[in-house]
Amino acid sequence: MKITRVEVERFRIPARTPAFAWRAGLPGSEPELEGGLLRIGTDDGVDGIAHTRRGVILEDLVNRRLRDELVGEDPFRREWLWHRVWELDRIEEFPVYVLGLVDIALHDLAGKALGVPVHELLGAFRTEIPAYASTVTFSSTEEYLDVADQCLELGYPAIKLHAWGDARRDAALATALRAHVGDDVDLMYDGSAGFDLPDAVYLGRALAGAGYRWYEEPMREFSVTAYRWLAERVEVPLLVAETSDGAHMNTADFIRSGCAEYVRTSTGFKGGFTGGLRIAHTADSFRLRAEVHGGGLPNIHLCMAIPNTTYYESLVMENPVPKDPIVDAHGLVHAPTEPGVGASTGFV
Ligand SMILES: [Mg+2]
Repeated sequence: MKITRVEVERFRIPARTPAFAWRAGLPGSEPELEGGLLRIGTDDGVDGIAHTRRGVILEDLVNRRLRDELVGEDPFRREWLWHRVWELDRIEEFPVYVLGLVDIALHDLAGKALGVPVHELLGAFRTEIPAYASTVTFSSTEEYLDVADQCLELGYPAIKLHAWGDARRDAALATALRAHVGDDVDLMYDGSAGFDLPDAVYLGRALAGAGYRWYEEPMREFSVTAYRWLAERVEVPLLVAETSDGAHMNTADFIRSGCAEYVRTSTGFKGGFTGGLRIAHTADSFRLRAEVHGGGLPNIHLCMAIPNTTYYESLVMENPVPKDPIVDAHGLVHAPTEPGVGASTGFV
């Protein structure tokens, strides 16, 4: 089988309402976007697709770099083509969200060609996984507690805060949430890189006192040393390397520093399924967990394929809290059954 065409179809992604933020000063919602669907076609008639919210950028990169690299290649040589994308990254410095798109489309293609869902192609580990409710920023402690009640009512066994990015206010919120939900609900906190070391230490000590499962990305992930210093000063387990470039090669340095009990893996920022698996296996070597960042079908497949992960991330972006159609009444996400990734329409 040979790749015969590589195309980008742009599609409209409407503006999200109501608008939301990951923390004060860090908007989450965007105006109307042009998404991009990458389609890799073959002489056998089988094709594979992958989606991004950045259609204009993807189209440019496909036209200038990726099409010429892929056409004529065997789409089953995924490791070789993964390597070639990294070679092109050396000259192009691809955004991290572009690095995995070819790999996702090639896995989709292979799954369709073989008639199996991608998680089976990867080596299935589980058929269901619990989801945590991952909040956006709400206006007050009272609103967060109300949102938490709704999430528990919907079946979620765990809640992760994205809060205001103010160490003292967030520490008080995290403590109030623990008192509100009791000790049996898993709680996590995500800083979206809002802090420097002194504030990250202050907040980390509060999260440890409130028994949080993990403390995610309190600082930008440029300095591994800063994370090692933070880990030396707080008891709460850190979850690191969500946005850093370099897939498993970068994650390995975070692990080597001793700062991590949890690392981030994902199809979105870590080089598709190939990068996501490499990170999970690197973490597993040291008995660490690799938690899958973000939602969407490719990440569900990744959750099903790796042993050392705990939850699927289900975003809660508004109040009243809508039911996530992917999460059942027991808070579980189930393995997709369609061949390939199973995303025939825009799922980004
Ligand atoms: Mg995060």
